Amino acid sequence: MTRVLVVEDEESYSEALAYMLRKEGFEVAIAADGNTALTEFDRNGADIVLLDLMLPGIPGTEVCRTIRQSSSVPVIMVSAKDDEVDQILGLELGADDYVTKPFSFRELVARIRAVARRTAPAGGGATAPTGDDPTAPQVIGPLRIDRRTRRVHMDGDEVQLTAKEFDLLAFLATDIGAVHTRTEILENVWDAHWYGPTKTVDAHVASLRKKLGAHDWIQAVRGVGFRLEPPA
Ligand code: CA
Repeated sequence: MTRVLVVEDEESYSEALAYMLRKEGFEVAIAADGNTALTEFDRNGADIVLLDLMLPGIPGTEVCRTIRQSSSVPVIMVSAKDDEVDQILGLELGADDYVTKPFSFRELVARIRAVARRTAPAGGGATAPTGDDPTAPQVIGPLRIDRRTRRVHMDGDEVQLTAKEFDLLAFLATDIGAVHTRTEILENVWDAHWYGPTKTVDAHVASLRKKLGAHDWIQAVRGVGFRLEPPA
């Protein structure tokens, strides 16, 4: 069962959300502030964290950062305004998705399911690897992408990626050297129904690039999108 940790201080809101999610077959834990959330996450874990930005005490951004220090659990950030989403994207917190209040429960459940599906341990990435054996890791020079275990190595060292960064890399790697537009990336790595800012792609590309190291594996093609190519 997928366990969702709802971090939200407005009780009317979190209670309704928990009720709906349980009805949809999720296991739900609620934390009303950042400290409780971190304690709960340490103690019982979660498969997905739904994290409100505005919390008493530690802000949602810090909760996200702290979780990221030890875990690549999918985090969906919830904010009250669209322009806040732009700001938090710039912080490169490593969140996997962003939703703006108010949102419909149906939409939120769809987003949670999409994230859960993509991050399921049995693979389920957006794309199929190349080669005869679909479970074999893809090797591009020093870069090794294992879709089955969702692990990435560069020169033999493991690269710690968030769920979303992994999906982005796996998608770009399905067609090495080809340019993928932002829309194409959003549809394949996020959701067919994504309606958020396309800037989210750029933010994730930037953090993925940083993690892949000094060589520029991901190139921006001006006015078009991005492509993955081993550095010359
Ligand atoms: Ca709040």
